[in-house]
Amino acid sequence: MSGQSVGSSPPPISETFPRPEAEAAARTRALEALLIEKGLMTSDLVDRMASLYEKDIGPHLGAKVVAKAWVDPAFKKRLLENATKACKELGISGVQGEDMVCVENTPKVHHVIVCTLCSCYPWPVLGLPPNWFKYPQYRSRMVIEPRKLLKEDFGLDLPQDVEVRVWDTSAEIRYFVMPERPAGTERMGEAELAKLVTRDGMIGVAKV
Ligand code: FE
Repeated sequence: MSGQSVGSSPPPISETFPRPEAEAAARTRALEALLIEKGLMTSDLVDRMASLYEKDIGPHLGAKVVAKAWVDPAFKKRLLENATKACKELGISGVQGEDMVCVENTPKVHHVIVCTLCSCYPWPVLGLPPNWFKYPQYRSRMVIEPRKLLKEDFGLDLPQDVEVRVWDTSAEIRYFVMPERPAGTERMGEAELAKLVTRDGMIGVAKV
């Protein structure tokens, strides 16, 4: 116990939730072995899925979408109207992304996403969620005190005149954030811009 005094601000999520990763890994291996033994899965399939989400599907795809929206106003309009359809134009689609909604950050409105129930997340554009996205503390505090959580755990101190909108992403609708295009990037091309867009920026816990 760290002897936290009453009334002091809570430690960051990473400190309060030291996840027993080894335990989770052991449980996963046991489940995998069982499913393979029962003939419900093959180790080939497991390897293929792991590689798919480690290498091929991830936030670099969402970054591509955001960068295109930054340089192409017509695409941006289509993206904000129907993200699933617009992403498909770039060949980006798949499970857990059947109904995606993209919300745009502006100088006056900051969007952030959370799944209060579990860990719903737009897989086709962001890949798999980071562990902290699943922690109860993130899920509850983000709706109770988003401004405080963003400041204390993510170092994102939003001015009081910026409205914070929290989106509860679910199995039906999965949100992601289009961060503001940073100043001074006017001469950058799409590929270069995409490199600036981070996973955390598209969750809304960081700026780009
Ligand atoms: Fe969920």
